Amino acid sequence: MTAGCYVHIPFCVRKCAYCDFNSFAGYTGESVARYVRALETEIRQTGPGGPAVDTIFFGGGTPTAIPAVDEARLLHAVLESLPVTAGAEITTEANPGTADTSNLAVLREAGFNRISLGVQSFDAGLLKTLDRIHSADEAKHAVRAARDAGFDNVSIDLMFALPRQTMSQWNATLDQSFALETDHISLYSLIVEEGTGFHTLYQKGRLPLPDDDVAAEMYQTAIDRAADAGFEQYEISNFARPGRRCRHNIHYWRNDPYYGFGCGAVAYRDGQRRMNVKSPARYADAALSNGNLAESVETLRADEAMAETMMLGLRLTEEGVDSARFASRFGCDPRDRYAGEIARFQGLGLLEPAGDNLRLTQKGVFLASEVMMAFV
Ligand code: SF4
Repeated sequence: MTAGCYVHIPFCVRKCAYCDFNSFAGYTGESVARYVRALETEIRQTGPGGPAVDTIFFGGGTPTAIPAVDEARLLHAVLESLPVTAGAEITTEANPGTADTSNLAVLREAGFNRISLGVQSFDAGLLKTLDRIHSADEAKHAVRAARDAGFDNVSIDLMFALPRQTMSQWNATLDQSFALETDHISLYSLIVEEGTGFHTLYQKGRLPLPDDDVAAEMYQTAIDRAADAGFEQYEISNFARPGRRCRHNIHYWRNDPYYGFGCGAVAYRDGQRRMNVKSPARYADAALSNGNLAESVETLRADEAMAETMMLGLRLTEEGVDSARFASRFGCDPRDRYAGEIARFQGLGLLEPAGDNLRLTQKGVFLASEVMMAFV
């Protein structure tokens, strides 16, 4: 079984109002350089003998918030330290406000062959509401700059169910997205997370969100329009042109092993999940002094790993949970192990067989959380 490799760059120009990722604004100069040195140290200390890597993903935060030469240097460290296969998918996330032809060209030259741009919306008012640092035009420019820099695999992220967002605004954002002819689109419904600026507004009753019916209509509209535009839906939130599915994220949804480097990064290997300390400064202190990087280490029991494999696999709307892969890993067929739950949800029209696999129905996709939680 091959593995993914995740590298975390926690820095952003500004913290977005909705974001609860392990990301920080205000780090510059030596504090960024020190973090990069620490990250390179952690990567280069990886011992031999781990699984082969066929996807690498630099996420954040905003990887393009650090100098492109530093991101390139970190990629070289990964390529030199891990058993990376030929033809690996190598992605960098990027913020349209920190992506131009010159830094993207450096990244492409270093070996990145896929880029994921956090566009979120093409509506000027909504971009302001979200505290994004870029305009709609800058987002379009970033997609063109990625193409000019030689990226032939470009993804954008969009968000819906945003404060005061209307169907016509959502349709206008979809129009502009499809016009850009990217290879992949990720669509996320806003979730108001604790600790964010949006959560504070929500608690004060000052975050006017579309109701659930409108949010569901936005999602269904996107599914229909993405299909019309030539995208295949392969995961609850992800749509790709043929041959352009995100192989790295498919590793996660198949519950495959992955390496993780950087502050707050999670690694999952040999049934053990390890998360690094979240603070960039504490992480750098530990990495540069050969200290303990782990904030938590969890060894999963077989029943926990099976439940997670079900939950994650059901996110894959076309493939679903692969019974043969599950059986070869856990020694039992998921259709036997979870016969009761499966029968119940099949009866409700929320699950269906797909050959030997098991997946959500179209109706089940809208109730995915309820179905998944039943397997925990
Ligand atoms: S750019 Fe991305 S990671 Fe950074 S604050 Fe905004 S949403 Fe979070």
